[in-house]
Amino acid sequence: MSNGLNAKVALVTGGTGGIGSAICIKLAQAGCKVVSTYTNETQAKAWQATMAEAGYDIALVKCDVSSFDECKAMGEQLNADFGGVDVLVNNAGITKDGTFRKMGPEQWNAVINVNLVSVFNVTKQFVDGMMSKGWGRVINISSINGQKGQFGQTNYAAAKAGMHGFSMSLAQETAKKGVTVNSISPGYIGTEMVMAIPEEVRNQIVAQIPIGRLGKPEEIAALVTFLASEDGAFITGANIAANGGQHMC
Ligand code: NDP
Repeated sequence: MSNGLNAKVALVTGGTGGIGSAICIKLAQAGCKVVSTYTNETQAKAWQATMAEAGYDIALVKCDVSSFDECKAMGEQLNADFGGVDVLVNNAGITKDGTFRKMGPEQWNAVINVNLVSVFNVTKQFVDGMMSKGWGRVINISSINGQKGQFGQTNYAAAKAGMHGFSMSLAQETAKKGVTVNSISPGYIGTEMVMAIPEEVRNQIVAQIPIGRLGKPEEIAALVTFLASEDGAFITGANIAANGGQHMC
C-alpha cells in the first residue's frame, strides 16, 4: 500500500530530541529520506550513530532555527543536496518558564524566537519549492498550553498559539497548490524531560489527563506521518489535539 511518502524528503527541526526522534523514525519507516537539524555536533553525531545502529539513515544539518541567516544557508544546502524538502516538521522548541511578573525580555524573546520566529525562518526556505512541485506538507508541533494557557508560560503559550494562527493563514495561501499546513498540539508526553519531573508532581499531572497516562512520542509521530501521507491530503489549517482528553478539563 502506498502512502505517498516513498522517497519524499522530510526535514524535522530538533529531530534529535524526545518527540523529534520518534518523528524521524516513523517518517523513515514510511519511506522518507529524513534530515534533522542540530545545534550540538557531538550530541548529534552520537544520536545519528544510535539511529544508524537501529537501521535508520538520518542526515544531519546544523542550524539554529531562531537565526534567519542560518535557516537561509540550510535552505540553500538542502535545496542543492536533496532538491528541496517535501515534508517540513517544525518541531524544535524550548521552554524558559516564569511568572509574567518575574519574566524578563531574555526569557520572552528566547522562547518566542525558538518556537515561533523559527517557523517563519524555516518554512520560508521551502514553501516556494513545495508550491512549484504541487505537493508539500508543513506540520507545526504546537502544544496544549497554546490552547489553554499555563501558569508561568506566557512566553511559551503565546508562541505555541501563534503557530496555529500561522498554520491557518499559510494553509489558505497554499491550499490550491497541493501544500497542506497543520499544527499538532500534544499534551504531556513521556519524554526524558517529562519523566525527569519528580514522580509525585508527575502523578498530579497524570491525574488531570482523562485517559490516565502520559502520551507516547510515537503517538505524536504517528499523527505527523498520517498528516504527511496521501491519506492526510484533505486536512489543512487544522490544529489537532493529542492530549489524552486534557483539553476538555
Ligand atoms: P526536546 O527538548 O527533547 O527536543 C527539543 C529539540 O529542539 C532538541 O532536539 C533541540 O536540539 C531543538 N532545539 C532547541 N533549540 C533549538 C534551536 N535554537 N535551533 C534548532 N533546534 C533547537 O523536546 P521535546 O521532544 O519534548 O519537544 C519537541 C516539541 O514538542 C517542542 O516544540 C515542544 O515544545 C513540543 N511539545 C512537547 C511536549 C512534551 O510533553 N514533551 C508537549 C507539547 C509540546 P538541540 O539539543 O540540538 O538544541
